Amino acid sequence: MSQYWSAVVNGLTPYVPGEQPKIANLVKLNTNEHPYGPSPKAIEAIRAEASDALRLYPDPTSERLRAAIAARHGITPQQVFVGNGSDEVLAHAFLALLKHDRPLRFPDISYSFYPVYCGLYGIEFATVPLDENLAIRPDDYLPTDGQAAGGIVFPNPNAPTGRLLPLAEIERIVAGNPQCVVVIDEAYVDFGGESAIPLTARYPNLLVVQTLSKSRSLAGLRVGFAIGHPDLIEALVRVKDSFNSYPLDRLAIVGAVAAIEDEEYFERTRQAVIRTRGQLVSDLSALGFEVLPSAANFVFATHPTRDAGELAAELRKRAIIVRHFRQPRIDQFLRITVGTDEQCGALIGALREILA
Ligand code: PMP
Repeated sequence: MSQYWSAVVNGLTPYVPGEQPKIANLVKLNTNEHPYGPSPKAIEAIRAEASDALRLYPDPTSERLRAAIAARHGITPQQVFVGNGSDEVLAHAFLALLKHDRPLRFPDISYSFYPVYCGLYGIEFATVPLDENLAIRPDDYLPTDGQAAGGIVFPNPNAPTGRLLPLAEIERIVAGNPQCVVVIDEAYVDFGGESAIPLTARYPNLLVVQTLSKSRSLAGLRVGFAIGHPDLIEALVRVKDSFNSYPLDRLAIVGAVAAIEDEEYFERTRQAVIRTRGQLVSDLSALGFEVLPSAANFVFATHPTRDAGELAAELRKRAIIVRHFRQPRIDQFLRITVGTDEQCGALIGALREILA
């Protein structure tokens, strides 16, 4: 703490970023990045843009990118907002669209940034416990005794559990909360979920947020987007304009457009991750792990007799890193990113040795 800090900063805790340690031959299965590189067409587009053009500011409205996203999802660019990673899109949504005089609701086990944004903006929140199977119970998000929430947000599939809520349940939550905005964070939806984007045509209180960091393998480019009714998008644009009129740089815009248009590469690499996930789940199960059903590019697994923290530490000694959360209810789980077949093979080989 410093005498020069404002009261707001005193209330904030530093974010512990996903680990990026410099270890030779590291098998990095801790931050849910895509194991295969981005589309070669995206890299080509970025190379071409890395030119004298960088002298000029980028298009503040990212028109080309919004048009590409709109075309892919059969909507209009007025229904698309883009930002510097979905983290930024979510931060703007918290500021722009959640009522600050009633508590925001999100699951007690969920994306760790939601309470951070609440702290930043002074938003009251009330977490909703997952059920005994670590699943979201949709009924818990329907208003009781006429009390509307200030807003609702959760990832689908949820993180770090990987569990998916069917679209019909999402619709029930959105339809049951017409007085507030429901934000569905679909960071992982391409690995096995059904997107709620089509529902935005019928529900003006639904905002769907996606990212190019996971299924498009562009975590390093920082591009995320939101889709919703033009009124919701307008609120996000106003917040964006007040922070940074040019959040997406020229390289990000052209790279993201090329990645979105390369449907063939997207489909092939997405399917490869889904296939490897199936093998990883069956290999972990054969070693005695219980694995939650995953619709994401990671699995959430617990061993009935071995401590998860110790397993993570043993793996680390073998240059394999997975994620262990020291958080009540899930401290006996490991979150393991689906890597290449070779990486997952190395993980299973190491676990077999550790458990022997
Ligand atoms: N939502 C969820 C649920 C996530 O796990 C992540 C990535 N850690 C994000 C949003 C943010 O992703 P990005 O900012 O890279 O788009």
